[in-house]
Amino acid sequence: MVLNNYTYSVSYRDIKYPRLELKTGKLLFILPSGYNPDTLFEKHNSWIYRKIKFIEECMESAKNKKLVERTDEEFKRLVDKFTVEISLELEVKIGRIYLRKMRTKWASLSQHGNLTVNKLMKYLPEYLIEYIIFHETAHIIEKKHNTRFRGIIEKKYRNYQEFEKELFEYWFKVSEQESI
Ligand SMILES: [Zn+2]
Repeated sequence: MVLNNYTYSVSYRDIKYPRLELKTGKLLFILPSGYNPDTLFEKHNSWIYRKIKFIEECMESAKNKKLVERTDEEFKRLVDKFTVEISLELEVKIGRIYLRKMRTKWASLSQHGNLTVNKLMKYLPEYLIEYIIFHETAHIIEKKHNTRFRGIIEKKYRNYQEFEKELFEYWFKVSEQESI
């Protein structure tokens, strides 16, 4: 589906209020079961357009971002280094580390504490690679994105929202490069 030149998709979940996710660089409307998408556009027009404006701003600043050039080997060494440092810092144990090309996220942590890192992260500056690994490792302590989780993140990254925005911008840049 296309809205103002943006491809978007709709998914239904057991939630109270509609949500809009941008993480993957695409718009995803998450709607309460039985919710009519037309109602969304009628009732929340300004909210949707604010979100779209945000995406447009990110795409604009993405143009000024430069992708980092490093070899797979250098990238792997960085991931290993940060994983060791951060697991010591947070006093947790990370299981296995997998490197894989993913289309929808930078990294993820399995139930058993195994970390999957998106190979496309190799284009990111070091501080963002460290930030992503910190975020995933913090999920060993708290699975959900709740107050407790944000507390762990904010202790180290007071400006984590800036990092999230930058990651979003890099996502555009990297997708261009790799045409994912
Ligand atoms: Zn998370």
